[in-house]
Amino acid sequence: MKPTEAGPARRREMRFSGHPISPGIGIGPVYEASEPVLNFQHKKIAAADIAAETARLEDAISLSRKQLIKLKTKLASLPEQSQTEIDPLIDAYLHMLGNSRLIRGARLRVSDALLAPEAAVMDEAEAQAEAILALTGSDKVGRQRRAEEVREISRRILRNLTRLPFRNFTELKPGTILAAESLRPADAALIQPTNFAGIITAEGGADGHTAVMLRALGLPAVLGATGVLEAARPGMLAIIDGEAGEIILNPTARSLAAAQARLAERARNLRALARLQRAPAETTDHVAVELQANLELPFEIPMIAESGAHGIGLLRSEFIFMNREALPDEDTQTQIYRDIIEAMDGDPVTIRVLDWGSDKEVEALADYTPDTAEANPALGLRGIRLLLRHPDLFETQLAAILRASGAGPVRIMLPMVGFRAEIIAAWEIYDRVWRRLKRRNVRMAETRPPLGIMIETPAAALSARHLAKHADFFAIGTNDLTMYTLAADRSLPVGSKLYDPLEPTILRLIYETVVAAATAKIPVSLCGELASRPEATPLLFGLGIRQFSMHGNAIPRVKRAIRAVSSKYCLQLAAAALEAPDAETVRALLAAD
Ligand code: PEP
Ligand code: MG
Repeated sequence: MKPTEAGPARRREMRFSGHPISPGIGIGPVYEASEPVLNFQHKKIAAADIAAETARLEDAISLSRKQLIKLKTKLASLPEQSQTEIDPLIDAYLHMLGNSRLIRGARLRVSDALLAPEAAVMDEAEAQAEAILALTGSDKVGRQRRAEEVREISRRILRNLTRLPFRNFTELKPGTILAAESLRPADAALIQPTNFAGIITAEGGADGHTAVMLRALGLPAVLGATGVLEAARPGMLAIIDGEAGEIILNPTARSLAAAQARLAERARNLRALARLQRAPAETTDHVAVELQANLELPFEIPMIAESGAHGIGLLRSEFIFMNREALPDEDTQTQIYRDIIEAMDGDPVTIRVLDWGSDKEVEALADYTPDTAEANPALGLRGIRLLLRHPDLFETQLAAILRASGAGPVRIMLPMVGFRAEIIAAWEIYDRVWRRLKRRNVRMAETRPPLGIMIETPAAALSARHLAKHADFFAIGTNDLTMYTLAADRSLPVGSKLYDPLEPTILRLIYETVVAAATAKIPVSLCGELASRPEATPLLFGLGIRQFSMHGNAIPRVKRAIRAVSSKYCLQLAAAALEAPDAETVRALLAAD
């Protein structure tokens, strides 16, 4: 950002776009916070100084630890949701400041390579970050995050070695829009949401820790808006739209009035949605549906409680296995499942066993993945196929879930089922584990938790009536079901015409599944992203779905959608959609009121 210039005050309105991170409209003067430059020489030390320089390094490490512990205590003043997000990150940093590879490597660079501690820390962190980034596999975002964590913690040690102060936002006037080249998670942790109207950065992705934390702070935020810092002047008025990912600098009176109107409308909408939290989820003729939450990360639990969800319809257990060097053992998993079940306080929790393979890469499972690279991993070993190849992993996870099952109602779900034989084989293993734990008098639920399956392959949907004889429940995963049925990757860009869950083919598969479940008298839910789209809610209801599971944020809107329609209208809509020739026609039906 350039300094304030004297001269004509009138400048033209400028618009920029970036990643929409956190919904809301922010209006206020821009304040830029730049990162202080770390200034030190990359130098060698004399052998005689090894002890003194090592002591200096150890002091910086111990000071870093103290700062993080202090930050942890300061978290108490943040909203609860932010605390639960930031806390694990600080724990991860604290872990890295222990006897980690980073610290061991830096010490060796001082003692063996005779590098000054600053150079030792920087070189070691860079080498490790590079090594993480060079790993192959598809979880690129996860690797970038971990590399950034290593760099972040090394910056803290370097600041303490060079005695540079950390950023300080306390002098800012309330209502400011904070603009920065990039914002680190530790910076985000220092932000008091009430002091800011919003956050803009020129760099940063939509899935990084910083984005996750800003979302939790509930501040309107747009990250990765290239060019914005070059154009902004301190104190310049800015509007940011965190939902559209748009930034307007120096807005015209007309843009300002439009933003103020959107701000007022959003406030009205939020008030109306909040009022719905206790309202029943039912049609105008009182046919009830159940709205549940999907859970990927434990920090989402408080949000689930606020959303009015009736339990967890899909716990993607992959998160428990990701971002760690070693696999979580049975005790660790038991504790995690128990904590989640207890937090849901009697509401049901459906735990899906590990669905890894394809785009879901779990590094700790590298030894378990196929030896030969698969030409098309989405069509190879994944989900239940891999678990049945590695019954040890499967048994450990089942045992952990069963040991946690005394804490509240729980169901177990198998991912990627395509063949009847897979459920039969899974039942044999499940039976064995249940009997083994019973023999040992392990405390568990009194009756064995139900074992159900995801319907997310065309094979499963088309043979649902056979599979229903072996499954206690179905959950339809429209993300994969759409991908496999239409032969179109689910990560294709938004708006792609190839990947479209509203294709009548998909609707027919959903309907087949619902009919098979009804005939077999087993419950069926829908937990793909389609469940969170309010425009599709009446259609899905009409197809017979009465249980929806989605991201917690989406629940109030879906509830509003169901409360606005009658069951008769939904049935007619579904009947027409099932006969439609293409997704465009279905969309037109949904849009016609
Ligand atoms: C699905 O495929 O719709 C689903 C819910 O599973 P995931 O998105 O985890 O593959
Ligand atoms: Mg799936």
